Amino acid sequence: MTAALTATDLFFDQAACGLMATDAHGMILTANASLHAWLGMAPGALVGTRLHDLLPASARLFHYTCCVPRLQSEGAAHDIQIDLLMAGGARLPVLLQLMRQRDGDREIDHWALFRAGGRHAYENALLCKSEAADGAQNAQRQRDLQLQAVNTQLSAADLRKDEFLATLSHELRNPLAPMRSALDVLKIKHGNDEDARVIGAFDRQLRHLTQNRMQLRRAPVDMAALVRGAVHDMAPMMTAARHTLRLALPDAPLTVDGDATRLAQVVINLLGNAAKYTPDGGLINVELAGQAGHAELRVRDNGIGIPAAALGTIFQLFTQLEPGRERACGGLGIGLALARGIVELHGGEILVESDGPGRGSQFTLRLPLIAGCAVAEEIATAPGQPAPLRVLVVDDNVDAAETMATMLELFGCTTLLAHTAAGALALAPDFLPEVALLDIGLPDFNGYELARRLRGLDACASTKLIAATGWGQERDRQLARDAGFDHHLTKPIDIERLRLLLQ
Ligand code: ADP
Repeated sequence: MTAALTATDLFFDQAACGLMATDAHGMILTANASLHAWLGMAPGALVGTRLHDLLPASARLFHYTCCVPRLQSEGAAHDIQIDLLMAGGARLPVLLQLMRQRDGDREIDHWALFRAGGRHAYENALLCKSEAADGAQNAQRQRDLQLQAVNTQLSAADLRKDEFLATLSHELRNPLAPMRSALDVLKIKHGNDEDARVIGAFDRQLRHLTQNRMQLRRAPVDMAALVRGAVHDMAPMMTAARHTLRLALPDAPLTVDGDATRLAQVVINLLGNAAKYTPDGGLINVELAGQAGHAELRVRDNGIGIPAAALGTIFQLFTQLEPGRERACGGLGIGLALARGIVELHGGEILVESDGPGRGSQFTLRLPLIAGCAVAEEIATAPGQPAPLRVLVVDDNVDAAETMATMLELFGCTTLLAHTAAGALALAPDFLPEVALLDIGLPDFNGYELARRLRGLDACASTKLIAATGWGQERDRQLARDAGFDHHLTKPIDIERLRLLLQ
């Protein structure tokens, strides 16, 4: 029976897989040379033996409970992996494809066996690699999430730091304000007697506490000459961009008490920005004039302009607006913040206006003129001395309000005090204040609201409203402007600055 089924042709024997045939009872009828070689058996040794003997116990069980029923019902079983026993007893994992065929009245099972070890190893390696890739991807995702969390924490910390610094500076300014005013009163009263030295020491230490770090080397500076010099310095930049620069200067000198180097830095920054943020061939107007005790410089361009929303933040450090970013020429957004710092140290102010993108910008710089200068002399009142005015002083800090009132009275002003917003509103209609100096943090409602309500009263329609507050950031100034304040002073109040505002 076995002889009839022996296949010896080359193709069968040398196939790249094991081939064999069994009868329905598992008797091996034929097997090729490849299978004999894999199992470590002499050629033909398998023929006549039972499949049963090639299978370890677990494979046997699997074969009879899974493969045989499938062969009976479907005539085939595919992709079955079992172990075969080799001659020495070791196991050879193989993958089976089985087919049952009828041969006359017999059923013959045809087996194709593929070595599974190599494929296994390959699959395992593949699995390991894909697990490693998944792991790396997960780790990267984790790192991204951590980075995101750290970024969020940093932004929150930065915001908290800003808020902390603003609060700290507010808390420091508040007690310093009455001390400054009280000291100014003492200086006026006892500045020339034997206490002058003690008062001088007190004054210097208080100034040290309140001054910004930048030191100015002050001397009389003619702004007209300074602006002429700055325009001359910037001429090559203007020419390179084919800008037309129109310069209007007064005939008489406009003298301020200032640091010429720092002030030139400010003017050059304004001219440089006008040149940078104006497309080639633009028009830049530079105009200097004396204006109510101030030297007023206007730098107007017909360039890219500034969106309304950015006007309030443009003087903050590191502000660079998106439309102008490619024109910034390596700028860092520091120039205007520095300019404002310098100008404020001089007791002046710097303002920006623009009708919006594409409609140009105008920067206005105002610096107090020193007494004796041509335009200052035009002022009717004695130089540096405010006219007698009715001043309403509103501050919930009683010490701060009283010392401020004393100082104003030394200037010849008539004062009235209120410590709440409601109190101020009650006093204003009879008092008809010409100036109202308002603290912002009041117990009933804040100074912004009070400013709005005072403006609504007939008695205060033309009152000069001055915010006197410990909050000195740009957004606080903007809030004050929005509420209708004419000026914003940070505490402790610079007496010279106040004196000029009262003129
Ligand atoms: P920068 O070095 O970036 O010029 P600045 O502090 O001088 O820094 O200016 C801050 C930003 O204000 C600029 O980046 C620009 O977006 C805007 N800016 C300043 N001047 C002008 C101007 N004349 N026209 C339009 N935008 C301006």
